[in-house]
Amino acid sequence: MSNNIENKVVVITGASSGLGEETARHLSDKGASVVLGARRTERIESLAKDIKEKGGKALAVTTDVTEREQVKALVDAAVEEFGKVDVVLNNAGLMPLSQMEELKIDEWEQMIDVNIKGVLYGIAAALPYMKEQKSGQFINISSVAGHKIFPGSSVYSATKSAVRVISEGLRQEVKPYNIRTTIISPGAVKTELLEHISNDEIQEGNKEYVGKVGLEPKAFARLVAFAVSEPEEVDINEILFRPTAQE
Ligand code: NDP
Repeated sequence: MSNNIENKVVVITGASSGLGEETARHLSDKGASVVLGARRTERIESLAKDIKEKGGKALAVTTDVTEREQVKALVDAAVEEFGKVDVVLNNAGLMPLSQMEELKIDEWEQMIDVNIKGVLYGIAAALPYMKEQKSGQFINISSVAGHKIFPGSSVYSATKSAVRVISEGLRQEVKPYNIRTTIISPGAVKTELLEHISNDEIQEGNKEYVGKVGLEPKAFARLVAFAVSEPEEVDINEILFRPTAQE
């Protein structure tokens, strides 16, 4: 019986590390063709090579999600290479947490550009194809921080709340085209995400905490696989998960 993942074409932004990389491997193991987007070309090319050596199908396309044309080129490349686009995992993201009084305005702008505009560009690039196909799925990555706010998370939480709002609006609008929309809000997972935090104290505190309670990225990859594998008439709208030990 089909797992409803096999032969699907899955575009993943932020595929060069952490959750995106692990999901690419996991979905490929289940038979998906994966199209890998990120800025670090060497990383995605080496991931594509690994996947292909294991018998999978993968394509690496250097992509900066803050550049609308590059995101369009990523999705266009998926369709050109594999003939369709079944899933877009809008996963690329940054979390440079800081207190607002530090006025790290460049970091605020980066988060808005990557975490919000990057997701919007992913939607814009794939929606025309999915409408035409009368099928597709957007999986947009929010966060526990998109549900709750804590000191240092104001802007990050705002961007991740925006992802949830955009996704729910999108869901309501695109259901006539048989397009599914899923929000995944992870809690602490061990990835490179904390490396972007420029406030040393916040970075140290987070590293200690995530080191203690954080999950492995596989936990996330399994949930993406679950949302994709459900029958087409079932739209898993939202998944919120945390390590059991997380507050
Ligand atoms: P990583 O730092 O390991 O991965 C982030 C990915 O985003 C990298 O592949 C990076 O690729 C990519 N990225 C960043 N900026 C850009 C850009 N301008 N264009 C294209 N890609 C970009 O962290 P995670 O895997 O943890 O993060 C993935 C998502 O999960 C993020 O949206 C994050 O907010 C979210 N999340 C993570 C949690 C966690 O605990 N890990 C918890 C909740 C949410 P490159 O630098 O090569 O461009």
